[in-house]
Amino acid sequence: MEAVKEILDEMKDAVSNPRQAVKDYKEKTGKGVIGCFPVYCPEEIVHAAGMLPIGIWGGQTQVSQAHTVFPPFCCSIMQSIMEFALKGVYSDLDAVIIPAPCDTLKSIGQDWLYAIPDIKAILTVYPQMRKIAAGVEYLKSEFQDIKSAVEAIGGEPISDEALNKSIEVYNAHRRVMREFCSVARRYPATVTPAVRHLVIKSGYFMEKGQHTLLVSELINELHKLPAEEFKGQKVILTGIMAEPDGLLELFSENGITVVGDDLAHESRQFRTDVPAGSDPLLRLAQQWSVIEGCSLVYDPEKKRGDMLIDMVKESDADGVVLCMMKFCDPEEFDYPILTVELEKVRIPLLYLEIDQQMQSLEQARTRIQGFAEMLASYKDLKRLA
Ligand code: SF4
Repeated sequence: MEAVKEILDEMKDAVSNPRQAVKDYKEKTGKGVIGCFPVYCPEEIVHAAGMLPIGIWGGQTQVSQAHTVFPPFCCSIMQSIMEFALKGVYSDLDAVIIPAPCDTLKSIGQDWLYAIPDIKAILTVYPQMRKIAAGVEYLKSEFQDIKSAVEAIGGEPISDEALNKSIEVYNAHRRVMREFCSVARRYPATVTPAVRHLVIKSGYFMEKGQHTLLVSELINELHKLPAEEFKGQKVILTGIMAEPDGLLELFSENGITVVGDDLAHESRQFRTDVPAGSDPLLRLAQQWSVIEGCSLVYDPEKKRGDMLIDMVKESDADGVVLCMMKFCDPEEFDYPILTVELEKVRIPLLYLEIDQQMQSLEQARTRIQGFAEMLASYKDLKRLA
């Protein structure tokens, strides 16, 4: 148990002080650090250049300056990112990469050029006709532009060999993260919702090979412990992200554990490998065409509901929590469809608003408490039926 604690402490350090992680990496390697915006950023290109890609997913803050750049109905996560950027939080970065699979990301790319001129922005557009050959070719050309921009920053070319190697490092990381999510279910007391989130989030601030080793070590240590009994309610989280930690602690306080997720910040990052092949930029572009069940990808069949239902069955979950990022239109468009689909198969769904400018968790507390009680009585009724 001591070893588990040590590993989690190391992860906590990385998450609580990303600026230190940036400084340490630069001092140790003499290489740059590039911020990667949500939701699907080809980090492998940065990694292949020997630089550190770090995740830029906002954080809890009060917005004052971002309103000078954005209208207040812009999603909460981008408000936080712009606020941090205007306050100089990202000043140690050599550049940021901003993919644009949604309208807000398209706008922030242009706003960044105007508001944060000192940090280079590498902008890229993702095609929504992602499954046709022209769409894949187009995205490959966008990734070629990112590669050229990263090469200019690093001052060295990135070889195909190096890029294919980095893709393998990332695919190995994806496999280990999937394994962790599955193993974590056996240890609900040790891997609480907040701890599960910490393990995943820490990967955004460490070199991926190093994070893979740390998570593998954690899995080995968990395997040494006896499986933990759990008498509460099990849920799947879906949405963009589930933060702050205080919110996740409310789940634990109400006897709820997280047995799986479909969050853009978590499993959507690692549930789809980059396909095999020899042309690395083509491989990266092909990944966008095989991602499924995400509100940001064009999917006329809307497979997300069925995927969630399968996840609920596979993990024996009692319900689903939709973590709705405030003012996120792609997620808001999916919500009515999910409501109908889950209702049809009698899977309880909780709508929980996520706001990075949230000052109080009291409303969330009441909703989570009510949901826990509802799940418990629903289970009792099923037992009696
Ligand atoms: S997907 Fe949603 S949360 Fe993410 S940037 Fe777009 S609007 Fe904001």
